[in-house]
Amino acid sequence: MTIASNLKAITSSLPKEVALVAVSKTKPNTAILEAYQTGQRVFGENKVQELVQKAEELPKDIAWHMIGHLQTNKVRFIAPFVSLIHGVDSLKLLKEINKRAEQNNRIIDCLLQVHIASESTKFGFGLSEVTSALNQAEEFKNIRITGLMGMATFTDDTQQVVNEFKSLKTVFDSIKNEHITTLSMGMSGDYKLAIEQGSTMIRVGSAIFGHRNK
Ligand SMILES: *Cc1c(COP(=O)(O)O)cnc(C)c1O
Repeated sequence: MTIASNLKAITSSLPKEVALVAVSKTKPNTAILEAYQTGQRVFGENKVQELVQKAEELPKDIAWHMIGHLQTNKVRFIAPFVSLIHGVDSLKLLKEINKRAEQNNRIIDCLLQVHIASESTKFGFGLSEVTSALNQAEEFKNIRITGLMGMATFTDDTQQVVNEFKSLKTVFDSIKNEHITTLSMGMSGDYKLAIEQGSTMIRVGSAIFGHRNK
C-alpha cells in the first residue's frame, strides 16, 4: 500500500463533517509531499523543532497542527504560522500562546486537551475542569478555543475506548456553540470508534504513512 492509496481509502470512508489531520511526525518530507499531491493539506506534528523545519521546507498552503505536548518555552517558535494547537492543557500555556499570538498579530485557534484515558501519563484538563478553563480563557483576546481534544487509553478493550470517547463527547455537547465546533478524537487504531461517538477531527499517522521507527 502506498501513502496515496492509504489516504484515499481513509478519506473516501469519512463522513463529510469529519476532518482528517495527517500525522506526519518522524516521516520525511518526501512522504508528506506524496500525501500533499493527493490533495491533503492538513498535517500534524508533535515536536516543535520538527514542525518548524517542515513548515519552512514544505509548501506554504499546508495547515500545520501541533498535536503533541507543548512546552511554554517553545510556543514562540510556532506562533507565527501554526494553524491549530490541539494539546492545550494548562492556563499557563494558554497565557503564553496568547502573548505570542499577539506579538504576531494573530488569533491562534486552540483545543483544550481533556484527560479521558485511564493512563496517568496522558496530559489534559479533567472533564470537570473544562468549563472553568473555558471561562478563564475568555480573557485571552488572541486565542480562540474552537473545541476539545482527547486520547483514549491504548487498549484492546473496545468498550473502554468507547466509554472514554463518550465522556468527552458529553462535555463537548455541553459547551459547543458557533465557535466551539471541533472534537478532535481518534487515531489510526480507534478513529472508526471515535467517529461513531461524534468525532469531528481525527489524527491519523501510521494508517497513512506506515509504522514509525521509534
Ligand atoms: C502520534 C499521534 C497520533 C497518530 O497516531 P497513529 O496511531 O499513528 O495514528 C495522533 N494523536 C497524537 C496526539 C499523536 O501524538
